[in-house]
Amino acid sequence: MSPFPCAGCGQQARGRLAAIYSAWYLADGSRTAWKQRLCAPCVMQRLRQLLLHAQDSTSAVTSCPACGIESSQDLDPIYMTLYLPKQESREYALTTDATCAARLRLLLQDGAQRLPDRNGGSGGGFNRGADDDPFAGVLA
Ligand SMILES: [Zn+2]
Ligand SMILES: [Zn+2]
Repeated sequence: MSPFPCAGCGQQARGRLAAIYSAWYLADGSRTAWKQRLCAPCVMQRLRQLLLHAQDSTSAVTSCPACGIESSQDLDPIYMTLYLPKQESREYALTTDATCAARLRLLLQDGAQRLPDRNGGSGGGFNRGADDDPFAGVLA
């Protein structure tokens, strides 16, 4: 296996990088998906706060995990699956507002690799259900 450098700090933390798959819909309705490799410290630095808030999904109000505002009027979600070394994968449907989504997408594309859309535009987007792995086809 060839070691990959961390997209955040550029260090080659062999075998210990997390993989972050993220996807969202563009204004024209097409889907774009990215894969980013980060070392654990970079994951924590970049995403910890966000992911902590993303798990507060018990609230009845749709709020942006990045800034906390009520985002249902301006919803621009990002779908993310996080693979941390030696841990189960975790899926997130981030209910970001448009402003935070734009900022976050830049972060997620930083040093990332664009993935081909294997759904072939058949409308098979992401399901918010927890047991539907949107990246199963990518990883196979
Ligand atoms: Zn790093
Ligand atoms: Zn926000």
